[in-house]
Amino acid sequence: MLSYSYWELKEWFTNVNFTIVGSGIVGLNCALYLKQKYPKAKIIILEKGVLPQGASSKNAGFACFGSLSELIDDLKNHSEEEVFNLVKKRWNGLELLRKNLGDKKINFQQNGGYELFLDSKLFDECLEKKNDINSLLNPLFKRSVFKTEKNIFNFANIYNSYITNIFEGQIDTGKMVIELLKKVMSLGVQIINATEVIKFDDNLNGVSIKTSRVEFTTEKLLLATNGFSKSLLNEEVKPARAQVLITKPIENLFIKGTFHLDKGYYYFRNIDNRILFGGGRNLDFKAEETTSFNQTKLIQNKLEEILKETILPNQKIEIAHRWSGIMGVGTQKKAIIKQISNNVYCGVRLGGMGVAIGSIVGKELAELV
Ligand SMILES: Cc1cc2nc3c(=O)[nH]c(=O)nc-3n(C[C@H](O)[C@H](O)[C@H](O)COP(=O)(O)OP(=O)(O)OC[C@H]3O[C@@H](n4cnc5c(N)ncnc54)[C@H](O)[C@@H]3O)c2cc1C
Repeated sequence: MLSYSYWELKEWFTNVNFTIVGSGIVGLNCALYLKQKYPKAKIIILEKGVLPQGASSKNAGFACFGSLSELIDDLKNHSEEEVFNLVKKRWNGLELLRKNLGDKKINFQQNGGYELFLDSKLFDECLEKKNDINSLLNPLFKRSVFKTEKNIFNFANIYNSYITNIFEGQIDTGKMVIELLKKVMSLGVQIINATEVIKFDDNLNGVSIKTSRVEFTTEKLLLATNGFSKSLLNEEVKPARAQVLITKPIENLFIKGTFHLDKGYYYFRNIDNRILFGGGRNLDFKAEETTSFNQTKLIQNKLEEILKETILPNQKIEIAHRWSGIMGVGTQKKAIIKQISNNVYCGVRLGGMGVAIGSIVGKELAELV
């Protein structure tokens, strides 16, 4: 362990009121709201990555609240009220994100969302339930969310009609994280990177924290560790890796919007004249239940195959880059926002909708204190 000076220990690690673990959407929003509530508080964020290393800076940037088939699926194990509330929270979360950071700064664009189908079976099921779901969501959107449309993008090997959603948008994920970091740091929150929290002990003096670099005590500890929570928390949240690729710029790219394919197991969008394409976790759920940032041949080959045969058939496409990120998932879709012990709180399990709900989860986590 490094040795720290008297000055360093005094300025950074003494009289700490709030320590947040994780500098993703949740951790940064939590810091924002804590600072609003307690302007004089000393707040630090500990982040194990040199950059924020979680899903917040690796995601696809869909500003979405559930495709039609996803919502139909959710209704199989959630009540109508629960599904309505899930959508409401995602929609309100997106509005909060946009209000906090500004559409321009995060390059928010409402280009619409499209659900594509491999065959008519799922499409027909969606068509049958479309009006019911539109009615369920009517109090929130005041007009029909889901409509049908013919294949205007010339995708190949898929069913000839889509379901569209005019309310769906997209953001620039990198810009979102940068804006959040700037906002939080301008308020005087210290972010300490490359420092992993290894364990903590909630005791009479506050919470003692052992990290990979330093040990200190904080009054309150807030865990925003999402898919990496297992080593610190005994909650029902598992890691789920999601793999992504991005093409080199494509001349005259006319695909615009956010696209969900095969019940949302695959997703793609336009960005900077490129196609960003991810998914395929369903090819091997077990192997993808990991916090390792690798990519696998199985999934990357499948992504490339769908890209070349379905999304951009008859075109020469080159892959520029590949990466993966770790989500936090569980059997229930609701995030876990709760007090763990006297001085310890958590806001985790954001699933595949953290862009939408991250701001609200961070706010609710701060409000627990
Ligand atoms: C490839 C991919 C695509 C996605 N696409 C979308 C999308 O299009 N739309 C959408 O809404 N959502 C999407 N998501 C999900 C969304 O990104 C997440 O739900 C959201 O970012 C979670 O935010 P978070 O702050 O809870 O967690 P994270 O962003 O994962 O932040 C947790 C942070 O905690 C840090 N940490 C963990 N443990 C420790 C420790 N012990 N010590 C110190 N630091 C620690 C991590 O390094 C990490 O930075 C996607 C996710 C992935 C991976």
